[in-house]
Amino acid sequence: MSRTIAPEFTRLGWIGTGVMGRSMCGHLLGAGYSVTVFSRTKEKAIELIERGARWAPSPREVAVASDVTFTMVGFPHDVREVVLGEHGILAGSMPGAVLVDMSTSDPSLAVEIAERAAAMNIISLDAPVSGGDVGARNASLSIMIGGDEAAVAALEPIWKALGTKFVRQGGPGAGQHTKMVNQVLIATGMIGVCEALLYGYKAGLDLERVLESVASGAAGSWSLSSYGPRIIAGNFDPGFYVEHFLKDMGIALAESRRMGLAMPGLALAEQLYRAVAAQGHGRKGTHSLMLALAHISGIDWPNRV
Ligand code: NAP
Repeated sequence: MSRTIAPEFTRLGWIGTGVMGRSMCGHLLGAGYSVTVFSRTKEKAIELIERGARWAPSPREVAVASDVTFTMVGFPHDVREVVLGEHGILAGSMPGAVLVDMSTSDPSLAVEIAERAAAMNIISLDAPVSGGDVGARNASLSIMIGGDEAAVAALEPIWKALGTKFVRQGGPGAGQHTKMVNQVLIATGMIGVCEALLYGYKAGLDLERVLESVASGAAGSWSLSSYGPRIIAGNFDPGFYVEHFLKDMGIALAESRRMGLAMPGLALAEQLYRAVAAQGHGRKGTHSLMLALAHISGIDWPNRV
């Protein structure tokens, strides 16, 4: 693939206008591209439609109207439905089209989609992201890409409109595997963030002042800086849904098992997050791990002050 990607030549499609997709699609509109959109709940696309996006009634119809179609949906079964389903993208794509799945999904599904697309002379890339809702809003995502090298290079203007870092990690599925590495790092890190703040609280410290000291030192991390203040304020709005994180850890654990790897840290994090979901917080942000950990120690975190 050596075509030029630019607003005057390239028609874009976007499927999935939730927390992440809404901002990301907005950046492409802002860069001057014509975009056709579809999402399960149309209300979540209204703002984009008001800014000039065209609504299509199905993923298939989005693909009919687009040279490059992006998906940013929730779970692997959603990706399967919007790409491979009866009214899915492949059913509407012309040879030469490109499809880019930016959801966090199964590496094996990315490979299956790339193979089925290639048989139709369509290129499929897996391009999950890291950086959270804030990274999506600020166009500062890190994009981890698997698939055809020339297509990845040709899409550079798109990656640059959405993020500050994009790296091709290898062939189909390599983007999703890299995102799993990212999630393994985040999972155990979140236990540390929450336990450290619990410790500071029980020791009678001013947690905002504690953050001032530790966030800029060797213990600093994106999770601590981004979620620490929200945890202290008792604001557990998503962000990144607990149920999506459970999905990611499930994929990472399944892939680890397949590779014969023991991952005790990841398994512990997954079990703790199961408790978070069982306590009714599945649609809260991942930092609500604090609620479950505080509960174990008999602390009612939101009402502690
Ligand atoms: P979200 O708010 O649930 O957005 C997903 C959107 O896709 C929703 O609007 C949903 O419709 C729509 N959708 C789902 N299945 C669909 C289908 N079959 N057909 C059409 N539309 C469909 O989730 P998100 O936070 O944006 O996350 C999206 C993906 O990015 C997930 O895979 C997540 O793991 C990953 N991710 C999220 C973050 C984060 O911080 N939020 C960071 C990195 C990666 P409804 O509105 O009807 O539910």
